[in-house]
Amino acid sequence: MNLSYDRPIRSDLIQEAINSLLQRSGKSMDYLKDSESMGSFQISTRSWKSVGVARFDKTYQLWTVSEVKLRKLLDDFIKSFLIYVLLFLIGQVVIYQLFKLIAKAEDKRRQDLIYQASHDPLTQLPNRSYLLMHKDDWLVQDDPGFSVLFVDMDHFKSVNDSFGHEFGDEVLKELAQRLRETTPERTTLIRQGGDEFLIFVREHEDESLLSMARDIIASLSHPYQVEGINFTLGASIGIAKYPLHGTDLDSLLRASDIAMYEAKKHKNSVRIFADEMQNGYLQKLVVEQQLRKGLDNHELFMVYQPQVDHSGRLYGVEALARWQSEELGFVPPDQFISIAEASGLMPRLGEFVLRRSLSEIKKLQQETGLEFHLSINVSVRQFMQANFMALLLDTIDDVGLSKVFVCLEITESLFIEDLDYILPLLNQIHDMGIQISMDDFGTGYSSLSMLRALPVDELKIDKSFVDNILNDDAARKMVQNIIAIGKNYEMAVLAEGVETQEQADILARFGCDRFQGYYYSHPLKPDDLKVFLDHYITRLPKRPVS
Ligand code: C2E
Ligand code: CA
Ligand code: CA
Repeated sequence: MNLSYDRPIRSDLIQEAINSLLQRSGKSMDYLKDSESMGSFQISTRSWKSVGVARFDKTYQLWTVSEVKLRKLLDDFIKSFLIYVLLFLIGQVVIYQLFKLIAKAEDKRRQDLIYQASHDPLTQLPNRSYLLMHKDDWLVQDDPGFSVLFVDMDHFKSVNDSFGHEFGDEVLKELAQRLRETTPERTTLIRQGGDEFLIFVREHEDESLLSMARDIIASLSHPYQVEGINFTLGASIGIAKYPLHGTDLDSLLRASDIAMYEAKKHKNSVRIFADEMQNGYLQKLVVEQQLRKGLDNHELFMVYQPQVDHSGRLYGVEALARWQSEELGFVPPDQFISIAEASGLMPRLGEFVLRRSLSEIKKLQQETGLEFHLSINVSVRQFMQANFMALLLDTIDDVGLSKVFVCLEITESLFIEDLDYILPLLNQIHDMGIQISMDDFGTGYSSLSMLRALPVDELKIDKSFVDNILNDDAARKMVQNIIAIGKNYEMAVLAEGVETQEQADILARFGCDRFQGYYYSHPLKPDDLKVFLDHYITRLPKRPVS
């Protein structure tokens, strides 16, 4: 074995170590030996450097020397330094990855929340919030333009009412799916709420828009099969173009809504917004404003149109509202009543009609000594008011007219509403002795089975059938059918809009029970009705020949 102490240390190295020791400690050799203190030294050759410490031991008269090559020291240092650097880096990477993971999870959670807030949970379609978040993507001034299609299902409410909301939800999912399949690429399809959908398309040519809308309607009107039930639905579409019909989202949506309402007037149809439609809308706003004022300023009053029975005797009167507006002149009732319904004025108007007609007729009955019925038109909105029944009974009691003379005219449109609410209410009203008349019968869509379930005392044949009874076979058949239904269900039948003796005669021949129309009398103000009644007592009334 070749041990290092086998070889003597080179004397020049020993000398260098001694020199370095003395120089570094700044002490003499004698002092170092005598004090046995420790001193350090350095040696450097051409190929290596080393550092060491030396101490003299007086007992054994020997130097104890420890020396190490600088290279080795450096190597050791670099080795541990590198290990630490490596550990540090690994730590950094691990922490970085950890944060990245957390950030990713956080991001996903945020995305999920945004998705949930901006999508409809039922159909998974983007919703109104989505639209508000992304509207700026669409509303760009120098864009070539785009259009909004406002899709609304016709009579969707009756699906919910007839089959329940869960069923309705299934239908909505199917609707959404069909819309997804029919709408072209690069469109945004949004569920606006309920059965209303918006489609944003990069298209502004009338022809393409109309054909796109017709395709959508065609797809939506295919028969549906949900839970084994087959049925069909219609849809109406209104279209507004950007920037032509509105430069901000609100005005654009309003324009498409107005166009959609225009489309709704015709089943399964589509309309592109036009300024005239807006005029109708603005006109409605004006009428609404004036109607509010008119109600305050007593511009409304009632007229009464007599109804006679088969033998020509007075049966009753129908109360009809009139409005002579200071600003607008005469406004026909079918116009202001629908506006009152849409603007929330119907409760006030309805209350006025109830109280005014009940008290005027009560007064006339007292003055003439005649007893006759009073038919009051009740709109759907009015009927659906929470306090309708209480208001009706209170007013009748207040005025003191016997309930047996009061008849409510309702229309088939009432039955689009919630039947579970309507039916018991109608029965209650009927049980109180108040009569129910089905107005405009034959123009709506109530089924015979539904009619049988309703406490109806009278069917009113709509004027449109009476108008054509002499020259149109279909109208004549319809009238005969309605009269037959009335007889079957033990309901009286009243024909309205009778204008000529010939009409009265044929109606009487078919078995109609009651008659109303210009042939007998126009609607009359209370004073004129009083004259009519006075006359009526002294003179034999007109009667149809049977
Ligand atoms: P309606 O209930 O079907 O009323 C019958 C309408 O036919 C009345 O029009 C009446 O004046 C008119 N009429 C009656 N006989 C004849 C006739 O021989 N020839 C012609 N050409 N017309 C005849 P009016 O008064 O303009 O009422 C229109 C509609 O407005 C009513 O239709 C009813 O739906 C609604 N309405 C009127 N007053 C009220 C009311 O007080 N409350 C509610 N909710 N609706 C009302
Ligand atoms: Ca009526
Ligand atoms: Ca009618």
